[in-house]
Amino acid sequence: MPENLVIIGSGPAGWTAAIYAARSNMKPLLVTGQQPGGLLTTTSIVENYPGFPQGVDGNDLMAALQEQAKRFGTKVQYMSVVDQVDFSQRPFKITVDGEVIEAKTVVISTGAGHRHLGIPGEHEFENKGVTYCATCDGALPLFRDKPLVVVGGGDSACEEATYLTRFGSIVYLVHRRDTLRASKIMADRVLSNPKIKPVWNAAVEEVLGEKSVTGVRLKDTVTGESRILDCAGVFVAIGHVPNTQLFKGQIDLTEAGYVDLKAGSRTNIEGVFAAGDCADHVYRQAITAAGMGCAAAIDAERFLSRSTT
Ligand code: NAP
Repeated sequence: MPENLVIIGSGPAGWTAAIYAARSNMKPLLVTGQQPGGLLTTTSIVENYPGFPQGVDGNDLMAALQEQAKRFGTKVQYMSVVDQVDFSQRPFKITVDGEVIEAKTVVISTGAGHRHLGIPGEHEFENKGVTYCATCDGALPLFRDKPLVVVGGGDSACEEATYLTRFGSIVYLVHRRDTLRASKIMADRVLSNPKIKPVWNAAVEEVLGEKSVTGVRLKDTVTGESRILDCAGVFVAIGHVPNTQLFKGQIDLTEAGYVDLKAGSRTNIEGVFAAGDCADHVYRQAITAAGMGCAAAIDAERFLSRSTT
């Protein structure tokens, strides 16, 4: 028998879809992926998830969502990875660790990853000064009263730089061009902040350090000259990459690779829905992902009851 609903991904969108689907008796199957809980489990305290006035540990939050989903009968395939999907026929076919599962409906909630610079030292110093989330890590003692570098020129970089002025002695905003891509309001905020120093036309070529980050090697994108900028932290904010490779050729994706939602959580394939960061390039918050997961489960439930009546 095909599953009523297979949920792919175990971030806030996936678990919330599972809670709603399980409570409507769909007995959903959730495939967690290799990192159960998703990106939130790599953060420390989440301070902006409603309902937790003192903040909540990212791992604890994901564990609680998981427990809630299981309490209502969600079946979970832990540490399992979807290798392949076939949405060209019904029931849909989802290959999980080499085994084919059939599904009447699917919720895609595979999230997104941080775009990496791909330069020497970046991986080596990850969590030793290199990070992809100022709100998660900015308050760490490592960064207090030290010069910090934010890489990027979009809204994320501006937001991160502004946030980091609370902790760093100075925040260098290193951008490869001489104008920001960010919205005017965010750019104005950054450019008028005395604790933020833009470094224009500069590409980070290498992250330098010993036990932790001590600086970056910059290359001037106009003159080609290299120089070293001392810093204790490198916050990479150069965009996100949605985890949607798997669905290429199966459902419509946007140019940037996000799931192209048609209405609500619906994709171009009836019965396939998407929620969270894999389909959202704008808000990308745990709470908005959870809200989208809720919507996707409701849409899946309505689709299923329509198609069986
Ligand atoms: P983004 O707008 O795509 O900007 C990415 C930035 O990183 C660009 O400045 C880009 O440079 C730079 N970049 C990309 N690859 C790079 C590389 N390999 N090396 C160096 N620099 C690189 O991404 P985002 O800032 O994450 O924003 C994504 C979306 O979310 C946007 O629509 C944004 O408006 C939205 N957002 C909104 C808010 C808010 O309103 N509060 C906050 C965050 C994000 P170039 O400019 O030269 O291409």
